[in-house]
Amino acid sequence: MDTDVIIVGAGPTGMMLANELRVAGVAAVLADKLPRRSELSRAGGVQSRTQEAFDQRGLLEPLLATGTYPAGTAHFAGITLPLTHDRHRQPWRSIPQVNIEAFFERHLAAYGIHVRRDHELTGLTQDDDGVTATFGGGARIRARYVVGADGAHSTVRSLLRADFPGRSASATLVAADVRLRGTDKVDTHTWAEDGHWAALFPLGTDTQGRPMHRLALGGPQHSLPRETPVTEDEVRTGIRTVFGPHRVELLELCYGRRITNSARQAADYRHGRVFLSGDAAHIHLPVGAQGMNTGIQDALNLGWKLGAAIHGWAPDGLLDTYHAERHPIGAAVLRNVQTQGLLMDLDGSRSPDIVATKELFTALAQLPEVQFHLDDMLSGMGFRYALPGAEHQPLVGLPAPDVDLGSARSHELLRSGHGLLLDPSGEFSEVAALWSDRVNHAGKAAATEPMLIRPDGYVCWAGDPTVLESALHHWFGKPAQR
Ligand SMILES: Cc1cc2nc3c(=O)[nH]c(=O)nc-3n(C[C@H](O)[C@H](O)[C@H](O)COP(=O)(O)OP(=O)(O)OC[C@H]3O[C@@H](n4cnc5c(N)ncnc54)[C@H](O)[C@@H]3O)c2cc1C
Repeated sequence: MDTDVIIVGAGPTGMMLANELRVAGVAAVLADKLPRRSELSRAGGVQSRTQEAFDQRGLLEPLLATGTYPAGTAHFAGITLPLTHDRHRQPWRSIPQVNIEAFFERHLAAYGIHVRRDHELTGLTQDDDGVTATFGGGARIRARYVVGADGAHSTVRSLLRADFPGRSASATLVAADVRLRGTDKVDTHTWAEDGHWAALFPLGTDTQGRPMHRLALGGPQHSLPRETPVTEDEVRTGIRTVFGPHRVELLELCYGRRITNSARQAADYRHGRVFLSGDAAHIHLPVGAQGMNTGIQDALNLGWKLGAAIHGWAPDGLLDTYHAERHPIGAAVLRNVQTQGLLMDLDGSRSPDIVATKELFTALAQLPEVQFHLDDMLSGMGFRYALPGAEHQPLVGLPAPDVDLGSARSHELLRSGHGLLLDPSGEFSEVAALWSDRVNHAGKAAATEPMLIRPDGYVCWAGDPTVLESALHHWFGKPAQR
């Protein structure tokens, strides 16, 4: 073997995974076909759960220190959810994807992990022991596992001939990075009578400190073939059509592209020793800031499991739980995006059915329970894995709370990449000692109920002391000490 894991694709998913594998103490090669990091403007919204994941690796503070990143309020199909403001420790934030990727690249380099650029994967063969990856130019690398984090048009997925069922695009929209004047005079989501609409999201400031916005424009005028260039004229006319004359002025169109509502998901995230993650596993319209976030969470879920397999302590079936846990989340994201696309009336049909549905939905979305339910999805905080015990214990399967333990926060104790047993009474110290090479023990911790937290920050046991040992076996394998 040349390395333990080959990660194909150094986007946010691949870089997060490279860091997870580093934390788990296994070797990885991170390869990308591009000669340098992409400067294409894409994601802007970073969910609460993603920021928590960064915090659990000590990355959030340094990432936030790289710029000014405004906190915002979640919306569902343009319906703002004001009651969800400040609901989580980390608010929804606008952090450009390019900044996240630049940050990760520097962070990984500081640990000697450099992206192998100009490495386009062209071939993949696997056998019982490993996988051989071939790259353009003839380089061959052999590893125990390969992860395809190579985006929407994934070569890994094609080479596997993996099923990628779903729906082709039925609408195109404009997504543009712009400088505007007059945004304070208009709603962030505005629909015109003729079916055109616009959505505005703050993108922080440009290099000269001037405010930037991501502008989405939809409706008949904008539903053009994907390759059609986005011009200043189109954006200016679109703004005038939706907001009315002389209200919002386009100062600069920095970047514009067309995006579609095609939606697909890989039927299997695991193919033997090869895994699919991020956009390689799921694609959808980027509404509600979910694509990059879902990919980063895929990486968080898979990283420690690959680490366990490579170190030899993975319990039977652990690697299969990646598909079992992440596929339903990907499917749920696709469903909520589909609903949002319908309510947003993407191509401006003004169909009476859509207008009526949106009216009812907007009324329902004033109810606190509805806002919280939607926010659970859009923040990533409410996604729950169907783990053993989840049916009896409300915490199991959810992201662990960040508990103040006096000398540290519990999320800080996850930075080692180990699991964590919170044991306020100290009654489990003997059993915890058996797994001390994989699970940190916070005995006599501050007020919290006892819980076992996986390295990815999800609660995998709470409550019933009689099943703690079997939970440790289930997630962390045979104890080294016995
Ligand atoms: C306009 C727009 C706005 C968006 N807004 C948001 C948002 O606010 N929030 C959000 O969460 N998401 C958003 N998204 C989605 C987000 O950009 C993607 O989900 C995210 O980039 C997926 O990350 P990834 O690492 O899985 O794939 P990618 O970022 O696509 O990275 C894949 C990498 O693989 C490399 N690669 C491809 N093929 C090969 C090969 N054969 N060999 C080697 N390398 C290869 C590519 O060069 C690339 O670097 C938005 C997308 C768009 C277009």
